[in-house]
Amino acid sequence: MRLGIISALAEEQHGLIEALESPFKHFYGMREYTAGKLWEIDAVCVLSRIGKVAAAMTAAILVEKFGVTHIVFTGVAGSGDKNVTVGDIVVAEQLIQHDFDASPLFPRFEIPLTGLSQFATDVHLTDRLAAAAAPVTRVHRGLIASGDQFIGKPGQIQALKAAIPSVLAVEMEGAAVAQVCFELGIPFAVIRTISDNANDDAAVDFMHFIKTVASRYAFEVIYNFCKSGSEPTFGY
Ligand code: SAH
Repeated sequence: MRLGIISALAEEQHGLIEALESPFKHFYGMREYTAGKLWEIDAVCVLSRIGKVAAAMTAAILVEKFGVTHIVFTGVAGSGDKNVTVGDIVVAEQLIQHDFDASPLFPRFEIPLTGLSQFATDVHLTDRLAAAAAPVTRVHRGLIASGDQFIGKPGQIQALKAAIPSVLAVEMEGAAVAQVCFELGIPFAVIRTISDNANDDAAVDFMHFIKTVASRYAFEVIYNFCKSGSEPTFGY
């Protein structure tokens, strides 16, 4: 396994780059890719920047230029469900681009020529991430919606829920990574710590929460994830 780890913001990945052994930095396409060993796993960490295009470009380059075989996206998201509260973790089982609409040519949300409106994450990676997150905080699994908007204006989350009732969390990159990985045949998973309720308080204390809570959770989850992969070794 050569694992690509993407986050949108520096604070979401804080600590992981420092934990990389024998780090080697490559600059490409306005991104800094740091390759090294992360607790025995061959890994490449990178910040995608915010939004679907930025995330799609980063995922494609991780695969095509840095040869990663698996991708995990770790970051924060707004809650899309009353049972999902700030400080919980949502592990995606499916992702949808909530702002995609090529109707009437294609059904709303469907990505043309894939026949899909939702992309499923890799079951093994997702199980392993959820198990890695379980000791850290409360974990939910389900649908994450991505779009090129910070959801926080009055009525925004309600409209999104009316259109896609099963959404657990909203963010701005996951479903783009999902589409790239689907098209390139790369197993991937997305894990998000809930930073806000996607309402008018959403921007308040957002960065403070990421720095103090979400970055620590991301670090612990990835640590548990990497450690859980070690194969039993036999003496002969
Ligand atoms: N206020 C921040 C903006 C960050 S954009 C700043 O000044 O830098 C929000 C980032 O966190 C995106 O990468 C997105 O994936 C995630 N996110 C967290 N809460 C969100 C919400 N309510 N709606 C959309 N994205 C959200």
